[in-house]
Amino acid sequence: MGKILFVSDRTEKIQQYSAFFDKKTFEFDSSYDEAAILGIIDINCPDVIIFDSTFSGTKNLIKKLKSITGSTAFILLVKDGSIEPDIIKYINAFLTEEMSENLILSIISANLKTKSALEQLSDTNKNLADSLYRLNVLYSTSSQFAGSLDKQKLVNYMIEGMDKSLSFDLTCTLAFCTEEQPVLILNSLYEISDELLSAIKLRTVLNYKSLFEDKKTPFEIDTESLKVIKNVKYPANRFTFTLFQYDNMFAPISLGDNFFGCIEIFKETPFSSDDATCFQTIAQQVSLPLKSATLYQEIKETNLKLEKLERLKSEFISIVSHELRTPLTAIKNSLDILSSGKCGEINEAGSKFLNMAQRNVQRLAGIINDLLDLSKIEAGKMDYHFANMNIHSVIDYVKSSLSGVAKEKGLNLIAEETADLPEIYADSQRLEQVLTNLVSNAIKFTPEGKTITIRSHIADASQINAHECFKEDLKKLSGKYIVVCVEDQGIGIAEKDLLRAFDKFAQIENSLSRKVGGSGLGLPIAKQLLEAHNGAIWCDSELEKGSRFYFAVPVSTILSEICRV
Ligand code: ADP
Repeated sequence: MGKILFVSDRTEKIQQYSAFFDKKTFEFDSSYDEAAILGIIDINCPDVIIFDSTFSGTKNLIKKLKSITGSTAFILLVKDGSIEPDIIKYINAFLTEEMSENLILSIISANLKTKSALEQLSDTNKNLADSLYRLNVLYSTSSQFAGSLDKQKLVNYMIEGMDKSLSFDLTCTLAFCTEEQPVLILNSLYEISDELLSAIKLRTVLNYKSLFEDKKTPFEIDTESLKVIKNVKYPANRFTFTLFQYDNMFAPISLGDNFFGCIEIFKETPFSSDDATCFQTIAQQVSLPLKSATLYQEIKETNLKLEKLERLKSEFISIVSHELRTPLTAIKNSLDILSSGKCGEINEAGSKFLNMAQRNVQRLAGIINDLLDLSKIEAGKMDYHFANMNIHSVIDYVKSSLSGVAKEKGLNLIAEETADLPEIYADSQRLEQVLTNLVSNAIKFTPEGKTITIRSHIADASQINAHECFKEDLKKLSGKYIVVCVEDQGIGIAEKDLLRAFDKFAQIENSLSRKVGGSGLGLPIAKQLLEAHNGAIWCDSELEKGSRFYFAVPVSTILSEICRV
């Protein structure tokens, strides 16, 4: 029914209340000695304490006990209903000696109910505070998970989160962190003896194996080779227990077929079902970031391998091209001597074959030079000589050096006159290389009798209009540019191949590409050279009608010059 403590030194009252409360099946105690009262409160925790107001020192005793008891109800027994005003704030109710038994009973019952409601409320509040705290821990742990791709750190965050929310005495985490080397991470309050360590190792290995039953385990582990990392909070103390004395929880850390490890935690006091939910949640939450970390690791390794391969490929191209260039120069010189007639007359058929050999040597030399250029650019070893210059000089040079070839093919190569254009800060030799490639391509892919036109103008980046597929590339342009355009009336390029024309070794399938040959490197080299100028290259074209290749180089400003220094 409830526990009553009656504080009084009046024997007849004690007997009267004892008889009354016993009859009503209350647990009844009485005392007037302060030390004994404290003892009863400590051991028996009464629900209600009734103070006899005639007892001397009641007021001070009530005040004192109020501060050490929780929700116990304090009731004052007065003779006739008159109460010292000072005492009212410390008591929950009062009884008078004339009150009927029923009234007394109802007052006591009401106070018991209030006490139990208060206790429930305080329990609920405590549970709520606990849940809120755990939610906070889960939230901050999952934020830490989201911010890391390092397996070792993720495992540490998991253990930290469990420590904060469950406060364990010992965790044993088997994790596959670095290069899939299994590690047993022990986090404990106290020092672990060698015997305990052997027991933990054995238990962990058995736990691990039990997860796979008759299936093959992902990794072979034995107690001898298991690497152990120990983190001890209070190394001065030592555990004096066997694992069986502690409550424990165990969870695998895995996602689908991916197994990252397992965790077991031990605590002296029993875990609650909320603890189990929290434990499982954290162990599950860490699996996804661990999977991402594994994938990230794999991608990083693959990238490293690819970078290495790319480097080897560039080195290989560079070495082979150098090696080819020396004998090719010797062949070219010999052919030149032969065709000069210095070694004797050559008949008509002979000079035809000699011509063919010279043309092919020329072509081979072009391919080797392209390969060398590309490997230099990719290795960041290309030399640039930037200076203020006018684009007209580049156009004039290319036009005069290629008009002979164009004429031979029955093509008309013209450069449209433009008003004076502002200077650009560029490497004239590299721009000549770019324009030579564009005009050579135009010559290669344009049939006899047609015209190839070189134009140049100044444009603001915002005015440059290119095909959709080059938009991303041109986004980086800003300010004023000199734009050069090479227009031909040749075979054109299909819309789907426009971007591909700038890929390394790309030769777009058409009736001419095989016949005219080429390295497929001219446009990618041009693209990289223009990138080194903070410029861009793009094209538009229509099949059977012709193509327009454009490149843009920024107009010289103090800033562009400073940036290149
Ligand atoms: P290549 O040395 O093979 O010409 P490029 O990188 O200069 O290498 O050109 C790549 C491909 O783009 C060419 O093989 C051709 O298919 C296409 N191409 C380039 N310029 C033109 C053009 N003016 N007309 C049609 N196709 C072109």
